[in-house]
Amino acid sequence: MDDVRQRLAAERAQTQSRLASLTGDHESIVAASLDTNADDEHDPEGATIAFERSQIGALVRQVRGHLGEVDAALVRLDDGTYGVCERCGSAIGEARLEALPAARLCIRCAAAVA
Ligand SMILES: [Zn+2]
Repeated sequence: MDDVRQRLAAERAQTQSRLASLTGDHESIVAASLDTNADDEHDPEGATIAFERSQIGALVRQVRGHLGEVDAALVRLDDGTYGVCERCGSAIGEARLEALPAARLCIRCAAAVA
């Protein structure tokens, strides 16, 4: 189980640095949009910035969500419930956990709820 913990820790570090770079981008775009503050509401640049902001905002939410999943997986590892499907209680399966170390559901349940 130790390599699982390592895999999750690596995934967590990677997710955090991705989040840091996204948040950095996000802040600089927000700052840029404050700088160019709309005298002209029809400024095409302004529309591009608003679009970029919403795109990055969505990515940030997604990456934060993933970070939460990784943390929850680490908690399950401590509980001894890691690798057990939350829906049907059967084993999630080695290959799936290797591909998705933070998976909560076995492949059958994941397909059923998708
Ligand atoms: Zn299941």
